Amino acid sequence: MAENAKYFAGLDIGGSTVKTALVDEKGDLAGEMVEVRSHVKDGYEATFGQLEGALDQLTSNIGVSRDQVCGIGMDVPAPSSDGVIWGRANLAQDWVGTNIRDAFSARLGGTPVYMTNDGNAAALGEYSVRRKHHGALLLIAPGTGLGGGLVLPGGTAYEGANGMALEVGHISVPHREDDGELPQCSCGKVGCLEAWVSLVALRRRVGLELAKEENKDHPIQAIETVEEKAFALRDYATDGDEMAIGIFRQQGQILGYGIADLVRVFDPGLVVIGGGLAETSFRDQYMDWVREGFAERAWEVYQRSPINPDQVTTRFEWASGGDWSAALGVAYSAREMFR
Ligand SMILES: [Zn+2]
Repeated sequence: MAENAKYFAGLDIGGSTVKTALVDEKGDLAGEMVEVRSHVKDGYEATFGQLEGALDQLTSNIGVSRDQVCGIGMDVPAPSSDGVIWGRANLAQDWVGTNIRDAFSARLGGTPVYMTNDGNAAALGEYSVRRKHHGALLLIAPGTGLGGGLVLPGGTAYEGANGMALEVGHISVPHREDDGELPQCSCGKVGCLEAWVSLVALRRRVGLELAKEENKDHPIQAIETVEEKAFALRDYATDGDEMAIGIFRQQGQILGYGIADLVRVFDPGLVVIGGGLAETSFRDQYMDWVREGFAERAWEVYQRSPINPDQVTTRFEWASGGDWSAALGVAYSAREMFR
């Protein structure tokens, strides 16, 4: 390896693991990716020690010196702006209010650091693996909650004035429960998209479905906790179970409603859906339900060009960056910014 070659690191700091990767000047992955257990609850200094250890491992794997890492991208599982975290989420208290980005840069002797949240990082990752795509990219990632991110044409994540943009899980959707009520969201408001499209939502929905007379003998009734019931839904849907499919169909359609509003605001051209659903065997069917909901709410022009009907104006794709997309995304950004 040339001694003057430049490398850029991506450090994806999660609640349970820290995933790290190195890319070269061309943006290609350099060497093996390194994953360590996360100690974010022990404070940011402890995590910095881990990050340095990971950087040593990444560089020694390919036989280069740490001085050749010319820029670092890192993402944190919390809203942040200009290197400062606003909300605690899964982190220890000392992460909040400190300029984490500058503190880590100083610890490394001045290596420039870019910091963003995990939703933006994952969106950047999906952008970076689609090298032929040059438009914008909207990522929607259903998980425990519903995260997202928007990459602008050219490859910059849109973070907003306060780092609080793209809270896609908390836009309102025009859908009510059977009793006419809007569902409670974990954010304290009602009627949010996340209250329909998340693991938390699945737990509520499976409880409501199992309370119905027609489902009183459903095999999921035998599963003890609501967490395990919600978890089992995916397997039941895979096996063609009607109740489970009904729950996912509703979820997919309502996700389509939400995406229709987001597309009306951002017109990204490409919507990427991430999260665990990308790995299910019924994902093609799920995507059809999303498109159904989208078609119901989005104007025709957001579906195909009025001039050339063969031209699709909003494409839908599954995420393809896998578990490493956030680490690759921030490494990609560090390369864009600091090379
Ligand atoms: Zn909400």
